[in-house]
Amino acid sequence: MNKLKLVFATNNQHKIKEVQAMLTNFDIISLADLNCFEDIPETANTLEGNAILKANFITEKYGLDCFADDTGLEVEALNNEPGVYSARYAGEDNNAAANMNKLLNNLKNSLNRNAQFKTAIALNIQGKQVIFEGLCKGTILAEKRGESGFGYDPIFMPDGYKTSFAEMAMNEKGSISHRGKAIEKLVTFLNEHPW
Ligand code: IMP
Repeated sequence: MNKLKLVFATNNQHKIKEVQAMLTNFDIISLADLNCFEDIPETANTLEGNAILKANFITEKYGLDCFADDTGLEVEALNNEPGVYSARYAGEDNNAAANMNKLLNNLKNSLNRNAQFKTAIALNIQGKQVIFEGLCKGTILAEKRGESGFGYDPIFMPDGYKTSFAEMAMNEKGSISHRGKAIEKLVTFLNEHPW
């Protein structure tokens, strides 16, 4: 059986690995596979807007079916910051340690540690565009725990668990994460339609 080929418009190898583990029935093509090394604009002020910008960039430039995601960490006590600015919270260089330190510092006097990761996915397929969303609720820990994953994983503990995302195996995180849930919706949608 021929697998459906889809571009995942990201340069983040962690995400490609996570998603490839969940999308075994599909051939996922990365931006590197396309030799696309441009900075794709992420100038919208919503997660959904950025996902659409990225997916449209690839579909318009290469004429390929594509999906793109954008994720943010929304912290209740910080009016849902850093949100769409999660990568750039402590500066333009997307430094995970600096971003986490800034967040922990801004929350140091807060008893409310509630937070959620939110992922928006925009899928362009055969001239149609569909949006999917995934949420993962949890709390911000007082300090970093664990070595795996990326971004804010060491300081985020999902509800119902006693470990941070960075203390989980990749597959376990993928089965409960914001991106995992959004990808599940994407996969269900793809499987429900004969392409
Ligand atoms: P992106 O735009 O989807 O790449 O996500 C923006 C930023 O959110 C990343 O640079 C990370 O700091 C953070 N982020 C996204 N997904 C995750 C995750 O699964 N765990 C921890 N941090 C994440």
